[in-house]
Amino acid sequence: MQYTVNEKGYYGKFGGAYIPEMLYPNVEELESKYLEIIYSQDFQEEFRYLLRDYVGRPSPLYLAKRLSEKYKTNIYLKREDLNHTGAHKINNTIGQILVAKRLNKTRIIAETGAGQHGVATATVCALMGLQCIVYMGKIDIERQKPNVERMKMLGAEVRPALSGSQTLKDATNEAIRDWINNPVDTHYIIGSVVGPHPYPDMVARFQAVISEEIKTQLAAKIGRDYPDYVLACVGGGSNAAGAFYHFLDNPKVKLIGLEAAGQGINSGHSAATTVLGKIGILHGSKSLLMQTADGQIVEPYSISAGLDYPGIGPIHAHLFDTKRAEFQPVTDTEAMEAGLLCSRLEGIIPAIETAHALAYLEKLNAKPNEVVVINLSGRGDKDLQTYINWFESK
Ligand SMILES: *Cc1c(COP(=O)(O)O)cnc(C)c1O
Repeated sequence: MQYTVNEKGYYGKFGGAYIPEMLYPNVEELESKYLEIIYSQDFQEEFRYLLRDYVGRPSPLYLAKRLSEKYKTNIYLKREDLNHTGAHKINNTIGQILVAKRLNKTRIIAETGAGQHGVATATVCALMGLQCIVYMGKIDIERQKPNVERMKMLGAEVRPALSGSQTLKDATNEAIRDWINNPVDTHYIIGSVVGPHPYPDMVARFQAVISEEIKTQLAAKIGRDYPDYVLACVGGGSNAAGAFYHFLDNPKVKLIGLEAAGQGINSGHSAATTVLGKIGILHGSKSLLMQTADGQIVEPYSISAGLDYPGIGPIHAHLFDTKRAEFQPVTDTEAMEAGLLCSRLEGIIPAIETAHALAYLEKLNAKPNEVVVINLSGRGDKDLQTYINWFESK
């Protein structure tokens, strides 16, 4: 069984590039060049250098002693929260900006929901001196003011998407429209393992630095370069893809993705795609997504802005379909409790996205001699007000 992408851009029956004809030239240019660019010596040197000296990699693999005692197993946290800008997203935007430069692009566009990917994109554009335009739903602009201000401080222009529900999918439509109108000088930085081929594969390769480091770090710490479990939260699925990547072909490693169940699977306010989703096409690829009987996208909900996405990347749809990975829903309540517990036991305030992965420790039942790695995808500073409001209302 192959878990990575095939030459046609598919993971099993998922993936591909379902795009308007006017986007063919842009996507084909990227598709025909990305692997050669990424694996050139010159790219690798610059990528590795920036990951080290700018992002702060390798991120530590930390033995969480008090969490381990509580759950009677061995829990390691992969500290992506310690990266520059506070999450894993920067690994991908650094990679893509270096690709854009080598394609002689001078203008960068992106879309963002919660604003985290927008900030990571604005950051690398400032670093490289490239023009940056971030599309964001008008409602999201109002909801995510601090991130909008960060993007502006970094020199990006934030353009409101005024159509539809004025959220992420509308921002995505605006970004695609922009790319069609500016095919020559513009690169579109997608923020997760979603979108038409080659994006899911390209983003997974950039995020794969996470599992590459976990292997080396585990070998040094426990004398074995793989754990029994890897846990990661799944929005589009980029941090999970990165944490799983180098373990995909090792059946001894159990891979578990945690999805946002919001107020509950059957509440109508959820983003648990593998439970509720059906096969369909979203943002240019075939995957599992939440849709009505006649194929309209269902507006997703989660307390965590980074997980309320109506689909998952095709790699995860395939891992789910083949049962190579397991996907479990985690509710708002479970995630918020886990975020508080991690703060109190380890002195680490996790992003609410990440707290979904931590929450699964309650159900995992790992054995005392087993090793669990949790990808700590981001820090919780951005979520403090949401945590405070939640616990004050309890
Ligand atoms: C954006 C984000 C996520 C969700 O995105 P994935 O592509 O699924 O990784 C998870 N955690 C944090 C901290 C994020 O910012």
